[in-house]
This record gives sequence, C-alpha cells and structure tokens, in this order.
Amino acid sequence: MMEGSSARVTLSNFADVHVAVVEAVDYYLDALGGKKHEYLKRIFDSHYFPDELNEAMVSLGLFGALIPQSYGGTEAGILAMVLAMERFSAYGLGNTLALLTTMDTLAILTGGGQRQKETFLPKIASGEIKTAFAITEPDAGTNSFELKLAARAQKDDQSYLLNGTKAWITGVDRADYVLVVSRTTSLEEVSSRGLPRSFGLTLFMVPTQINGLEKVKMSTVGVEGYSQFQLFFDNVEVSKDMAIGEINQGASVLFSALNPERIVAASMSVGSVDYFLNKATTYAKDRTVFGGRSIAHYQSLQHPLAKIRAQQEGARLLTYEAARAFDRHEPAHVVGSYSNMAKYLSSEVAFDAIDRSIQAHGGMGFILDTGLIQMLSSTRLAKTAPINNEMILNYIAETELGLPRSY
Ligand SMILES: Cc1cc2nc3c(=O)[nH]c(=O)nc-3n(C[C@H](O)[C@H](O)[C@H](O)COP(=O)(O)OP(=O)(O)OC[C@H]3O[C@@H](n4cnc5c(N)ncnc54)[C@H](O)[C@@H]3O)c2cc1C
Repeated sequence: MMEGSSARVTLSNFADVHVAVVEAVDYYLDALGGKKHEYLKRIFDSHYFPDELNEAMVSLGLFGALIPQSYGGTEAGILAMVLAMERFSAYGLGNTLALLTTMDTLAILTGGGQRQKETFLPKIASGEIKTAFAITEPDAGTNSFELKLAARAQKDDQSYLLNGTKAWITGVDRADYVLVVSRTTSLEEVSSRGLPRSFGLTLFMVPTQINGLEKVKMSTVGVEGYSQFQLFFDNVEVSKDMAIGEINQGASVLFSALNPERIVAASMSVGSVDYFLNKATTYAKDRTVFGGRSIAHYQSLQHPLAKIRAQQEGARLLTYEAARAFDRHEPAHVVGSYSNMAKYLSSEVAFDAIDRSIQAHGGMGFILDTGLIQMLSSTRLAKTAPINNEMILNYIAETELGLPRSY
C-alpha cells in the first residue's frame, strides 16, 4: 500500500501511458522519502509552494500532459494529470498553479491561433512559463457575465487598453502570465443590441510584469502555498495578438476550460482524502483511552471513516470517468455532467474526511505538527472555488433532471 494512501489504482484498467505516469510519480514520491513531510511543513510554515516540486512536476510531464507532442508536450491527456495530481495530493502536495496552468493551456488549445500555440505551449510544457487565471471581480463572482473589466480597442485596432479590477487571483506573483477575462463589449451594449449574454467577453494573456498592472496581496487563506491578489488594471496595453480566441467570443473558449479545471480540482480533493484517512487510521490504531484497546476499535470512529472511504472511491471513479470522457472528446454535456458531479462529490467527501480525521485525533488534531488543521481552509475552499457547489447542483438539476433554471 502506498504510504499516505488508503487505496491503490488498479493499473490493469489503464492504458500503458497512464501506467507509466503513475509508476513515474510513485517512484518520484517514494524516492523523496521524508522530504515529502519537509516540503509540506515548508508549505505550512512559509506559505510557499516549493519550486523544486514545481520543477519535479514539469519533469514528470504534468505541465505538458494536455499539450500535443508537436508543441513539446506528452499528450498523455487529462487522465494522466488526474492520476498524478491525486497522488501528490495524497501527501498534501497538490499544486494549484499546475491546475490553473492546465486550464489556461486548454484555453490556448481551443481558442489560440497557430502563432500563440507556438509561443506558449512549448514553454508551458518545459516549465519555462506558468500561468494564473483571472475571472473573479469584487462585484462579479459566480455570475461571470456581470464582469466589468474593460478592454477598449485602440485606434489602430492592434492593441487594447485594459481597465478595471480583479480579486482573489491565485499565484499571480509566481506566474509569468495571467489569462484575464475582460469585456470588449459592455453589458449595456450587449442588452441594447439584443445580443446573447455570452457575447462581449474576450480573453487576453497578460504578462504579470506589464506596466499599469498593480498586484495587491489579499489576506486570504485557502490555497496552501499560494497567495491571492487583487489586480488593478490602469490602462494596461496588450497587443491584439494576446487575445485567446475571437474578440467578443471568449465565452466559448472559457467554457471549454471549465470542465478540465473541475476534473483536476476533483482529483486533488480525492487524493487529499487518502491523506486524511491515513492520518486518522494511523493515529487511531496507536491511541488508547479506555482499557487496553485502541480507539481504532470503536465503531463510532470506524463507521464514519468507512463511509468516507466508500464515498471517496465513488468520487474517484467518477473523476476518472470525467477525465476519460474529456480525453475521448465526448460531447460537452457528457463531460460536463461527469465533471460537475465529480467536483461536487469529491469536495464534499474531502471536507467530511478532514473533519472526521481531526475528530479522531481529539486535541492532537489542533496541534500544528499533526499536519491537519492547516489544511482545513484549503479543503473547505473546494466547496466554494473554482465554483461553488450550489452552482454545480444547479447544473445537475437542470441538465440531468430537466428542472427549470433556478437563478
Ligand atoms: C482562496 C481563493 C482562491 C481563488 N482563486 C481564484 C483565481 O485564481 N482566479 C479567479 O478568477 N478567482 C479565484 N477565486 C474566486 C472564486 O472562484 C470565487 O470566490 C467563487 O467562484 C465564488 O464567487 P464569489 O466569491 O463572488 O461568491 P458569490 O458569487 O458572491 O456567491 C456567494 C455564495 O452565494 C451562493 N450562490 C451564488 N450564486 C448562486 C446561485 N445561482 N444558486 C445558488 N447559490 C448561489 C453560493 O453559496 C456562493 O458561495 C478564489 C477564491 C478564493 C477564496
């Protein structure tokens, strides 16, 4: 049994490429030995995801998993990314910047032109550039269509001036570019011209060091190892060449990247359940409170953990199926259903898992050296971001049950 994991992937069910990825990741993680705990402690203590881990994930081909070989990627697919991320997360070492870069990669693959693919994809695969993603604004969260950050075309039509604010943007201090969702047509104009609400959004790859962009660190918790920023755009000039997809048609590119984001987020939650279960069972077998038997003998401890284990496996298989459906290019609604359900179940079971693991530890659950309480906020975040679970349920109610839209 893998250290830190309560389950094994049955490798016979996987293609050679996936077996190779799992074996390479396991080999790397095993070889790290005690360094895994050191890395995790560094994340907790300095709130900084170690560069060495990022580099290792690049070497393992994870940043290039979705990138065609012709652009320097491994083309291993999102299932490879899922399997790898799940295993890193089983040690508390899931990597949000890798998740965001994967999402942006998808946007470039879907909406980018030949030049943009040649510019960005090989550098993403080789780890030379990492990317953040900025959609959320203080006054437009879940309802992305309300976003206001304006991108105004300049007279020559070759560049755009960006003005406005984004908030909660993760890892923008570590990223080289941030994929910014902007408005090239105001919402008022969209409605006065009777255009669909999805019209008017445009995605730009913006260098994080560009003139006019101010990054202000927010006092947030939620992503261990990375910080969140408010971004203030003051006449930030970006070339039209940096628009990913057609001007005003960014919504379709954006939507193509949402399912992969949910799938990889689900794999991180599923993997983290291994971490929490492993901590709980190890501690419980060792801790004796009444008589000579350890607390692991109590059914009140066993049943909740057993339920979590069963729910984890359901979430895990659904996450794999979502990844497989995506890799097989199944229709968007099929991938969407699996992805949303996987994200929902995995984030809920991960939160239950950390709760029960802390409970099994009693007061020890609140000792920092136990390595649990620091993960409470990041585990809880998965129910709220990248999308809150209510919106996921809205989607399932509408698409799976044929119920009317509730919002
Ligand atoms: C730690 C952290 C990191 C983040 N990183 C990023 C990032 O890198 N890039 C980025 O763009 N954003 C990021 N975000 C923002 C995140 O995606 C949003 O916070 C999230 O999508 C919710 O939006 P909101 O905060 O505006 O909530 P609101 O839209 O104000 O919603 C509040 C609550 O209302 C409920 N609700 C809203 N709409 C509905 C509905 N239609 N039906 C039922 N219930 C509803 C939900 O319970 C929701 O949680 C991050 C957030 C956090 C906390």
